[in-house]
Amino acid sequence: MSRFFSKKYSMLEPYVPGEQPSDMDRYIKLNTNESPFPPSDKAMAMAHSLTRSLQLYSDPDSVELTKALAKTYNVEPDMVAVSNGSDEILNFAFMAYTDKENPALFADITYGFYPVFAQINASAYELIPLREDFSLCADDYIGRRGTVFIANPNAPTGMALPVSEIERIVKADQDRIVVVDEAYVDFGAESCVGLVRRYPNILVCQTFSKSRSFAGGRLGYAIGSREIIADLNTIKYSTNPYNVNSMTSAMGVAILADEEYTRANCRTIMDNRDFTVDGLRKMGFRVLDSRANFIFVSSDRIGGGDFYRAMKERGILIRHFTRDRIADWCRVSIGSRQSMEAFLRTTGDILAALDD
Ligand code: PMP
Repeated sequence: MSRFFSKKYSMLEPYVPGEQPSDMDRYIKLNTNESPFPPSDKAMAMAHSLTRSLQLYSDPDSVELTKALAKTYNVEPDMVAVSNGSDEILNFAFMAYTDKENPALFADITYGFYPVFAQINASAYELIPLREDFSLCADDYIGRRGTVFIANPNAPTGMALPVSEIERIVKADQDRIVVVDEAYVDFGAESCVGLVRRYPNILVCQTFSKSRSFAGGRLGYAIGSREIIADLNTIKYSTNPYNVNSMTSAMGVAILADEEYTRANCRTIMDNRDFTVDGLRKMGFRVLDSRANFIFVSSDRIGGGDFYRAMKERGILIRHFTRDRIADWCRVSIGSRQSMEAFLRTTGDILAALDD
């Protein structure tokens, strides 16, 4: 830290992204919940034709993209805001709806960026423990003051709540906002987008990074009441009006026009997930019930850190978090069938080596 760094940031603990090694070809990469499939061909063709107009600023309102999203989700365009990845719109929600007096409320085990967003915005936050089995108890959020953030499906557990449970939280106190982070919703969970017309206090955030194979394009969006979306746009126009670049915006439209490709990829990932869960359970692993493109696993035979290191030595990257409560666990992204076969084979090798 330089001596010039503002004191207001001196205690900031930045988010630590998963490894993105430069010698990528050496690894099967199952550590950052990316898609194993490339973006749709239609989107790729669009990117190429757009490079010719990059001397111009992007449309700050992303009108075409916003319209396409509104059509996809059956809402009005002024109920949609777009962002540079969903991380950005989540940060906007922390900026807009939390502060020292109005804390952010979120689970003790959830997306690791939430406490960082709270810190950088000097907001208070309260961690609400998940139950022993990592499920989220909706009642824990009812009767508490603060803005609720729920990742559904949750990360890194992959577990999801039904919409009816989230609706109970939203309905119980309509004087506060509930943000539902649906980054992984397309892999078998229920979306809360349908609640947006009925409740003025829910904001649903989604991303193109997972089911739509577009993590590097950095495209996220939020759907909520007109008033909430106007708040988020006030923040956007006060920080970076051109937050979504023109290539990403146009590719987003093309990706939305090719939903069958997205749906087919999601089905393949879900099949590969079932295949992997089955194989791991046969080897005695505990695997939480996942509705995401990753699984959360542990074994009595090997600790989380050791499993992560043994995998890395054998050329497979998975994710281990050192927090006490989940130190025995690893998160494994679901890739192609071939990658998952290699992962299961390598797991067998690692267990066999323990017996030697
Ligand atoms: N929410 C959750 C729960 C996530 O795991 C991620 C991915 N790290 C994000 C949001 C943000 O993804 P992106 O910024 O790529 O849209």
